[in-house]
Amino acid sequence: MASKERTPRKVLIIGGGFAGLECARRLGNDDRFEVTLIDRTNHHLFQPLLYQVATASLASPDIARSIRQILHNAKNVTVLMDEVKSISPTKKTVTGASGTVYDFDYLVLAAGAKTGFFGNDQWEAYSLGLKSLSDAQDIRRKILSNLERAELTTDYAERERLMTIAIVGGGPTGVELSGALADLIHRTLKSNFRRIDTSKLRVILIENSPKILEHYDPEQSDYAKERLQKLGVEVWNEMRVTNVLENRLEFQDGSSLDAKAIVWAAGIAASPLTRDLGVDTDRAGRITPNLDLSIKGHPDIFVAGDLTNMRDKEDKFVPGVAPAAVQMGDHISKLLKEELRLEGTTFAERKQELRPLFRYNDKGMMAIIGKNAAVLKAGNLKMNGFFAWIAWLLIHILFLIGFSNKISVLIGWAFSYLSNKPQARIIVHPPAFTDAEHPV
Ligand SMILES: Cc1cc2nc3c(=O)[nH]c(=O)nc-3n(C[C@H](O)[C@H](O)[C@H](O)COP(=O)(O)OP(=O)(O)OC[C@H]3O[C@@H](n4cnc5c(N)ncnc54)[C@H](O)[C@@H]3O)c2cc1C
Repeated sequence: MASKERTPRKVLIIGGGFAGLECARRLGNDDRFEVTLIDRTNHHLFQPLLYQVATASLASPDIARSIRQILHNAKNVTVLMDEVKSISPTKKTVTGASGTVYDFDYLVLAAGAKTGFFGNDQWEAYSLGLKSLSDAQDIRRKILSNLERAELTTDYAERERLMTIAIVGGGPTGVELSGALADLIHRTLKSNFRRIDTSKLRVILIENSPKILEHYDPEQSDYAKERLQKLGVEVWNEMRVTNVLENRLEFQDGSSLDAKAIVWAAGIAASPLTRDLGVDTDRAGRITPNLDLSIKGHPDIFVAGDLTNMRDKEDKFVPGVAPAAVQMGDHISKLLKEELRLEGTTFAERKQELRPLFRYNDKGMMAIIGKNAAVLKAGNLKMNGFFAWIAWLLIHILFLIGFSNKISVLIGWAFSYLSNKPQARIIVHPPAFTDAEHPV
């Protein structure tokens, strides 16, 4: 059968993170598709290095890159900066904060997750999350400003509060952040202050369950805990937070902790856009899609990345990590290409049932614990300590080369690592003193 000229299919991708960007890249320069990628920011963010920004080892531009620039060679891809506010699956339209209504033939929802508070959204006002560049900058600003205030104040109790950092959540984000903060404060900044003793600064990692890094092997969790304790981090297991107030945490056992910096790394919540799709979500707002990644009742709408909660075609759990998001973006692009290839063939009527199903290729996971140590788990391979840290470093350096192509970033990072002198310690827009905080 002769192939007919047809208008390109409109593919609308929401989110230029790992999943959305991969899908757009793979559909790039395929003129059967007219792709529009919408993101509320103008950059793709490498979240795994966010805590390096929070702890002043890297500057924000080092881990983010213009989406427009990444896709500039893909002539059929239009990048728009807009925040999607609603989706109508039946009308096949999406509405942005700009008021623009976008229509689509295929929709790829890849808007990721934000910090989640298990239904206690009022806690957000008193804690810092670590999901975006501005979150990382807020943490850095808060911690550096608190140290400056502690150096100024003569009120002993206030100084103690200023020198207490509470991190809630003993998963990879909490572990990596607490280790890096302990390194920053106890090693790097120790010679910088005259009035305060930085060795007295408390970094407290609070975890509800008996182990930190629950998804690792128990002996790796134990190793991570010991390692953090050596760095000076207090690890509090089996401590359930029941309330977050201004500068205070309350626990189930009736105790409380005063801290002028509270970081919440205990939960995630999927983008609220998942609610518009009219399908069931879990408590975090995530969707369990069909095995081809489309959603129930809407074969033209796909979800990918952190806003899914699913097992793959081999019944393997798909975690919320960057490689899984990339693989999902890739899967959807292949599926769409295959879908068009089948058109006009004898298989066209069965194209839905012939769709490829998603298979997750597990590349393992790793978490860094301060300088010189990490835990790594990939299949049967388990590694703890220095060599795991070297593996972590190589993978992230490789990423930085491919990502930003800035040798200067590598040199700056290597310098701050080797010399214990982080480069990005300038406080821009320090928070104003409140009356109560103003030093005497
Ligand atoms: C601190 C931290 C450390 C991590 N470390 C690791 C690690 O070491 N290894 C690992 O594999 N994974 C790690 N992860 C997880 C990994 O980053 C995520 O799994 C991955 O980013 C998910 O990709 P995604 O495409 O689903 O979403 P994201 O990468 O979050 O992208 C979502 C995109 O959607 C955009 N967006 C959201 N809402 C809207 C809207 N309404 N309108 C328009 N655009 C919107 C956002 O701006 C963003 O660009 C880490 C995550 C964090 C936060």
